[in-house]
Amino acid sequence: MTQEKIDKWLLDLEPFSLSELHTAMALLKHYLFLGYSLVEQEAFYSEILAGDHRKKIKELVARQRLYRSKEKPCPLCEAPLSIYSINEPKGKSNVKGYASLWLCPNADCPFEEFSFNSKYEEKRMLLTKEET
Ligand SMILES: [Zn+2]
Repeated sequence: MTQEKIDKWLLDLEPFSLSELHTAMALLKHYLFLGYSLVEQEAFYSEILAGDHRKKIKELVARQRLYRSKEKPCPLCEAPLSIYSINEPKGKSNVKGYASLWLCPNADCPFEEFSFNSKYEEKRMLLTKEET
């Protein structure tokens, strides 16, 4: 990319925060990885704005808000646990092939729980479990 293009890109980024950029890039990469082209994503976004999927998206967002608010308490000290993705594939440094780790944020508490489920799956299971 030319310096001129980089400068323009950075200038257009000004109204957005760095975390918004991270989110946008993560979503873009995620959907490209799943096989949705940029053209398809733009078309779908237009459909959403046109109202075809608006209700579904609203429900999804409400669900995500709920999902974010769900906490899993530490079984030892009841502090809300944090979950981390383990990006290391199964191998020397991840012998069992775990995909996520629940950790207690309390420095005095030794609780940790490894899982073969992804962070997303763990959070989704937590939500489903509490709904029933
Ligand atoms: Zn704890």
